[in-house]
Amino acid sequence: MAGGIVSEIGEISPGIGAGVREAAGVEPFAVALERHGRSLVRGEITTLQVNTGYLCNLRCRHCHLEAGPGRNEIMSRETMTAIVSFARRFPFRVIDITGGAPELVPDLPFLVEGLAPLAPRLMLRTNLSAVSGAARESLLALCIAHRVVLVASFPSTNPSQADAQRGAGVTETAIAVLKKLNGAGYGVEGTGMELDLVSNPVGAFLPVSQESAERKFRNDLLRKWGVAFNHLHTFANVPLGRFRTWLLQTGNHERYLRTLTEGFNPSAVERLMCRTLLSVSWDGFLYDCDFNLAAGRPAADPKIHVSDVRELPPPGAPIAVGDYCYACAAGSGFT
Ligand code: SF4
Repeated sequence: MAGGIVSEIGEISPGIGAGVREAAGVEPFAVALERHGRSLVRGEITTLQVNTGYLCNLRCRHCHLEAGPGRNEIMSRETMTAIVSFARRFPFRVIDITGGAPELVPDLPFLVEGLAPLAPRLMLRTNLSAVSGAARESLLALCIAHRVVLVASFPSTNPSQADAQRGAGVTETAIAVLKKLNGAGYGVEGTGMELDLVSNPVGAFLPVSQESAERKFRNDLLRKWGVAFNHLHTFANVPLGRFRTWLLQTGNHERYLRTLTEGFNPSAVERLMCRTLLSVSWDGFLYDCDFNLAAGRPAADPKIHVSDVRELPPPGAPIAVGDYCYACAAGSGFT
């Protein structure tokens, strides 16, 4: 298909390495799928995820992209223009802006204004600390004006555990920003302004069930700080990037891989986000998901720029998988 996207299911393990996987006694993800009579192929694509780059004010231990203050890969206005044009040609129900810290990308307002009219639901990921301070007031006003859904990282309601993952004092700043967002109507019932939280485990273990975690976060945040939110999403950490380095340095890598495979839930495969999502990198190329972006595995070979896409992958098209997919398919799944 000229200008279309071609993905091939292949079991390479750029983030893990076959030797490590074998040492941990873990079978390739593609083999596990086959053994359970499953295949990971595309359904209807409804979501466009836009990764604005790897610059971040934090250096979180669990980051699969190794984002941080020293990274200089950020999305240019030219790439943003190409993405807005792409979203106009192929309407998506959801557009999800992520990073790094998108708040630090100078032209983010241009991207938000361009994408907001094109999808019923526009989401912006935030680590909360990057949106604090007077310099971000206009960004918050823009989000309010366009009813942008804010999705904030908030790993734990225990400040010392959260700070261990994200850096000293980060929780205190995050709480101050959450209070401010509540004050502006975000996360407050009846305003229609959605504020969701995302929690990752603070170590080499799987998250607890989403329902019980949401209950605990809701109670803790209200009781300790008077903060409200709409939904909590819990996700397993993906063994790529800085998290993989941490696993290796602490001798937890093999054990974590075994934990992920033991938690493999074949019934989660049908709901995995990559079935309905396309991801665009900071420089405008297409990936099946943000983890394949971290692993350097584009959706097509050679990789294809959004400007050159003539058609989206049809239902049934294959998705490139790696062993890190076990993190998505563990427990209730990364959906
Ligand atoms: S890492 Fe997750 S989202 Fe990406 S292809 Fe694998 S299962 Fe799908």
